[in-house]
Amino acid sequence: MHVPNEAVPVRTRPWDFGLISTDEIGELEKEYVLRVLNKKRVFRYSGGNKADSEAFQLEALYAQRLGVQHCLAVNSGTSSLVVALIGAGIGPGDEVIVPAYTYIATAAAVLIARAVPVIVEVDDTLTMDPQALEAAITPYTKAVMPVHMRGVPAQMDEIMAIASKHGLAVIEDVAQANGGSYKGKPLGSIGDAGCFSFQQYKLITAGEGGMLATNNKSIYSRANIYHDSAFVYWDMNEADNLVPFAGENYRMSELNAALALAQSQRIDELIAKLQRVKSLITAGIADVASIRLQRIPDPAGDLSYSLVFYLESGEKSALFSELLSKEGIPNGTISNNGFADRHIYSNWRYILEKQGASERDTPWNCQSYKGNVQYAPDMCPATLDWLSRAVAIGLHQNMNEEDCNDVIQAIRKVAAVLA
Ligand SMILES: *Cc1c(COP(=O)(O)O)cnc(C)c1O
Repeated sequence: MHVPNEAVPVRTRPWDFGLISTDEIGELEKEYVLRVLNKKRVFRYSGGNKADSEAFQLEALYAQRLGVQHCLAVNSGTSSLVVALIGAGIGPGDEVIVPAYTYIATAAAVLIARAVPVIVEVDDTLTMDPQALEAAITPYTKAVMPVHMRGVPAQMDEIMAIASKHGLAVIEDVAQANGGSYKGKPLGSIGDAGCFSFQQYKLITAGEGGMLATNNKSIYSRANIYHDSAFVYWDMNEADNLVPFAGENYRMSELNAALALAQSQRIDELIAKLQRVKSLITAGIADVASIRLQRIPDPAGDLSYSLVFYLESGEKSALFSELLSKEGIPNGTISNNGFADRHIYSNWRYILEKQGASERDTPWNCQSYKGNVQYAPDMCPATLDWLSRAVAIGLHQNMNEEDCNDVIQAIRKVAAVLA
């Protein structure tokens, strides 16, 4: 094997990979967006044939991809989580369990639905620890939100078993894992509802947007009502015989839907490319004893845009990360990057401080809430430990064998230097 020269960085060529989603924007995206402009129909419920609506076609595509009965396009991933919670009847007085490592929007959605988030540990998969989930269940718990973080499927068998034993709704946060699967089942189709985001940092994008997927007619109808204050007037049939209530405006625009529709054609090909990249690299570092690869509950369902490995301590991961950067490989530790990463619960200030828009009525102090959830920045020590020991490298669909080899050689070189 080629022995790297200590003094010369493994990679001197620039690392000029952009975002997975926007790097793919091409003729198809232009064609679909222009199609909307040519039709002059930018609002999904405006006149014309329903099937001709981009949002309707996007919903049909996701229903088919996921094998679910109902999909509802919305204007963000956060709104997809909110409509799922409202759809499932979650509200004041209820507790909803979320992982300590997820984008803050997962917990914020619970608060927007007027319920109380309960924060539990993640394990070496960086997804919800099923044991921590079970230990956090109280008489007030109504739902659990597993998050397929960094494209990695959560431990759904264990989570579904616990949820069914305790009668909890399962709302999957699939914002970071569109197109992933767990034991052959598409992510977002396993729980009672699946919630997707089309924001720019996700695998594919619509600029902004989201999607709710469910087999539950009542979740779907209630979500429909909540996603549009006038929904019962636009589409009486979909609202069924349910008692109407006020909703917000989470409707998706036809322009965003067209962009999502074009980008969604690319999902499987993107994941295939990323999986090839990640498997090449993991094979090349499998025998490096000083690092431990993130445990992946089902590698076949991993989107594979994120390579994470752990060092023995936070100090070692910080040093490893720094040396890896000097070898020309952009990377980061997860919890000590020098900024308050909003994916880590200890930085969720308005939650830890139980701060609401109005002090007089928050989900925590409202009359319906009989529980007593407590938060503290050090309440999930295992999560903080895994995150501090983690080094993460973002992978890209356009990485070729040479790029993968640079990553392998750089990791091997740094590990050897630190040994
Ligand atoms: C991005 C993200 C969201 C929110 O999606 P938006 O479209 O930005 O509202 C929710 N959960 C997770 C895990 C995310 O990564």
